Amino acid sequence: MTKKRILTGDRPTGAMHLGHYVGSIQHRVRLQEEYECFFIIADLHMLTTKQTPEDINNIRTNALEVAMANLACGIDPTKCTIYLQSAIHAVYEMNLIFEMLVTVPRLTRIPSLKDMAKGAGIEEMPFGLLGYPVLQAADILMPRAHLVPVGKDNQSHVEVTREIARRFNHQYGKGDEILPVPDYLVQGDTLIGLDGNAKMSKSLNNGIYLFDDVKTVNKKVNSMFTDPNRISADVPGRVDGNPVFIYHDRFNPNLEEVEDLKTRYRAGKVGDVEVKQKLAVAINNFLNPIRDRRGELEKDTGFVEQVIYEGTVRTSKEADATLLAMKKAMGLTGVWNKISRKGRKRLDKKGSIFTGEE
Ligand code: ATP
Ligand code: MG
Repeated sequence: MTKKRILTGDRPTGAMHLGHYVGSIQHRVRLQEEYECFFIIADLHMLTTKQTPEDINNIRTNALEVAMANLACGIDPTKCTIYLQSAIHAVYEMNLIFEMLVTVPRLTRIPSLKDMAKGAGIEEMPFGLLGYPVLQAADILMPRAHLVPVGKDNQSHVEVTREIARRFNHQYGKGDEILPVPDYLVQGDTLIGLDGNAKMSKSLNNGIYLFDDVKTVNKKVNSMFTDPNRISADVPGRVDGNPVFIYHDRFNPNLEEVEDLKTRYRAGKVGDVEVKQKLAVAINNFLNPIRDRRGELEKDTGFVEQVIYEGTVRTSKEADATLLAMKKAMGLTGVWNKISRKGRKRLDKKGSIFTGEE
C-alpha cells in the first residue's frame, strides 16, 4: 500500500531553536516512518513579511540551515523530500487559481495574519500576506497531501485549504475528487523562552539554538529566569511554571535527579546555580548528537544542497502533474481545441504552450 502524504516545513528565516524541535521537528522524525513526507522550505512565504534584497540574499544560507537542522535531528533524506518552494513553478499558478475560490472577508477573518503583520512591523496588510493561506493551500494540495501537522495558531489556515479543495472539487470535479481534502494534525506543545515570558522565538532573542555550542548553552542557562520571589537559596521556591524546571522535565532524562532537585527547591534546600548547572549538562547532552551529526553533514561538501536539489526536482514533477489535472478538470487545457481546423493547424506546433501538455 502506498503511504499517505504529509506536507510540513519551515520558512528560511534563520537558525532553528529548541522550540522548533519541540513544536515540530521531533514529530516529523516520528511521522517520517509512517508517512511520505514533503518538507517545504517556504521562501515565498517569507516574502510576505521579509522581502528586501538582503532578506532574499539570505535565503540560501537560511535554507541550508533549516535543512541541516532537520537532517541533524534525524530526518532521513532517503525517506523524505525536502524542497525549495520558490523553485516550483506550478505553485505560483495554483495560487492564482485558488485565489478565485476564496473570498476576501473569509481571509480577513483569520486572526493570525493580523498578528503576523504586527510582528513584522507592517502597518497595512499587503495583498500577498492576506493571501498567505491561499499560497499555503497551493503548497499542501500540490503534492496531494493527506495530512498537515500544525501548531494551534495555524489550524485556521489549513481550514482554508480544506475549503478551497472542496470548492475546487465541487466546481470542476464532476464528482471526482481532483484534490484530496487534507486533514490536520494538531500539535499543541510549545516551549517557553529563556525569559519565561513568552514562547521561545528568534525575534524575542530568548532561545537556545540547536547548534549553539556548549559554552553558549551554559551561559544562556545560567542567565535563565527562575522563581522571581526567591532571593536566596534557602527560600522555598516555586517549581510549577518555572522555566528551569519546564526545561528539566523536557530535556533531562534523569528523572531521579529532576525529582530530587524539585523537592529540594520547594524546601529551599538547593541553589539556582546547581539547578542550572545540571540543566545545562542535560541540554548539552541532548544537543551533542545533533551537533555531531551536523559536523558529519558538513564534512560531506554539497550533500545538503544535493538533498534540496533532488527534492525540488521530484516535487516539481508532482506539482506539474497536479496542475495539469486541475487545468484539465477546469477545461483550461481545452480552450484552444475549439478553434477551426485551419487555425488548429497553425497552432499545432506550439500547442503545448496553450494546453500545458507535452
Ligand atoms: P519569529 O520570531 O521570526 O516569529 P520563531 O522563532 O517564532 O521566529 P517561526 O518561524 O515563527 O519561529 O516558527 C515556525 C514554526 O515553528 C511555528 O509555527 C511552530 O510550529 C514552531 N515553533 C516555533 N517556536 C516554537 C516554540 N517556542 N514552541 C513550539 N513550537 C515552536
Ligand atoms: Mg514566530
